[in-house]
Formats: sequence, C-alpha cells, structure tokens
Amino acid sequence: MLRCPVCVKSDMVVLELEEIEVDHCLSCGGVWLDAGELELLMGAADRAAARDKLRDTGVAAGSRKCPICGKTMEKAVSSSAEGEVTLDRCPAGHGIWFDDGELQAVLACGCGADGRVVALVRDMFRSRITTGKGE
Ligand SMILES: [Zn+2]
Ligand SMILES: [Zn+2]
Repeated sequence: MLRCPVCVKSDMVVLELEEIEVDHCLSCGGVWLDAGELELLMGAADRAAARDKLRDTGVAAGSRKCPICGKTMEKAVSSSAEGEVTLDRCPAGHGIWFDDGELQAVLACGCGADGRVVALVRDMFRSRITTGKGE
C-alpha cells in the first residue's frame, strides 16, 4: 500500500482501470500512476504522444515525495483540456502524481486517449469532478 505524497499519512487505495492498477487517495482525490501507465491509458499507439505531452521543468517540487522511493518529485508540465497542468514526477522514473482532476484533464485533451478511457476515468473519480468545464 502506497502512501499519498500530499496527505503523507493517508494510504492510497488501488483501483483497477482497464487492467491497469492505479493508486488513488480518497482524502485529496489525487492519483498515482506507475511509470508507463499513462502511456497504457492513452493507448498503445500513442505512447510516444503520451511521453511527448510531459515536459520536464527540472524544478524540485519541495514537499512532495515519490511514494515508492521517497525522493522529492520534480515538476513536469503537460497539456490538457484545461490548458497546461503541472504534475509531479519522480526523478528516478517511478511514476507521476496527478492532483484531483488533473488526470481527467490530461486524458480529455484529445491527444490520443480514446473516449472510452476518458469516460471510465471520469466515472471512476466522478464524485470529485466538477462539471461544466471543457465540455
Ligand atoms: Zn491524499
Ligand atoms: Zn521514485
């Protein structure tokens, strides 16, 4: 069980999404994807596109630590349906942290993820999604 990098003391729950296990914090609504899982969610044909979406800023985030190795995560920028979002990424490549709503926004930008996956993600995290944005 991984600890939430934001709430620190909260354990995350494992949710299964298209046979991909994602870690989700019920306290803050954030989602942790292990390395490669974003590409899997976006679809195999678009792995390169998924990788290209993320731009490293090289800026250490400060307080947020990778739930796997404990290293301070770095900021990475991704395009999304709501403009650019800033994500936290483990510098050792363990995975990416999405704050509440960011995963949905990134997947919904039309850069490769098929609509079915976007709908699944929306449904899974429905309780925390604010409506009326970007649709
Ligand atoms: Zn949390
Ligand atoms: Zn790590």
